Amino acid sequence: MPELPEVETVRRGLAAVLDGAILKNVILRRRSLRVPIPDDFEERLIGNRIVRLARRAKYLLIEMADGTVVIGHLGMSGRMKIHRGDPGAPGPHDHADFVTEAGVTVRFTDPRRFGLLLLSTTDEIGEHKLMRDLGPDPLSNGFNAVVLAERLAGRATPLKAALLDQSTVAGLGNIYVCESLFRAGLSPKRKAKTVGPARAEALAAAIRAVLSEAVAAGGTTLRDHVSPEGELGYFAQSLMVYGREGETCPGCTCGAKNSIQRIVQSGRSTFYCSVRQR
Ligand SMILES: [Zn+2]
Repeated sequence: MPELPEVETVRRGLAAVLDGAILKNVILRRRSLRVPIPDDFEERLIGNRIVRLARRAKYLLIEMADGTVVIGHLGMSGRMKIHRGDPGAPGPHDHADFVTEAGVTVRFTDPRRFGLLLLSTTDEIGEHKLMRDLGPDPLSNGFNAVVLAERLAGRATPLKAALLDQSTVAGLGNIYVCESLFRAGLSPKRKAKTVGPARAEALAAAIRAVLSEAVAAGGTTLRDHVSPEGELGYFAQSLMVYGREGETCPGCTCGAKNSIQRIVQSGRSTFYCSVRQR
């Protein structure tokens, strides 16, 4: 599943060809995604100019000149691919094409159809039901140790679960929560409320560093995600604990051999070093 760095990679790739572009055509071949694509989708976009590509958590936001905002989500398996010429005949999972006046086609492909294409407006997006309960974006100025500590205070839930809760921090998924906790040296099993100011400082810094590095690396490639230009990401090789059960943790001074363990929390795999992470 694409996580925040993958979505940010897609946003940057799309911005390079869509910022300022006028949509000449929008072709929908299948409207039944996780939620049906609105009936007036094409009508509100064709002839409209794209002002800016933004991102909120794992949602792509395409802001149009008339105040319309397209909310896009890649779901489990969604991809956006850029074609600078003829995109070729669509395959069975190519549900939408966005064609610009400059002749670029952005094709949305989603075999499992958990993705989303919805409409809102710049005035209403903050109160949209998908947006209104989201916590601060970990790469935004609204996120820091003080904010994180406030959002963890008083919560008896395991720290791992609290960080996956999108109202705590928006856009963190399983992989980067594991990596951030490893880097901060905090146990995923620790109660969220035990993270005081000092630990929150380390954790906030770890979250920002892990995500920034992943964005810089072009997003992790897991399953079938590719960046919009069709390039594969390569941060997977730099994951310290995720998917490394039974290995000795890299760069860890714990000295323990084969110390990375996998446990299941809330139905999701957690990878961590039980020696280093307390
Ligand atoms: Zn270790």
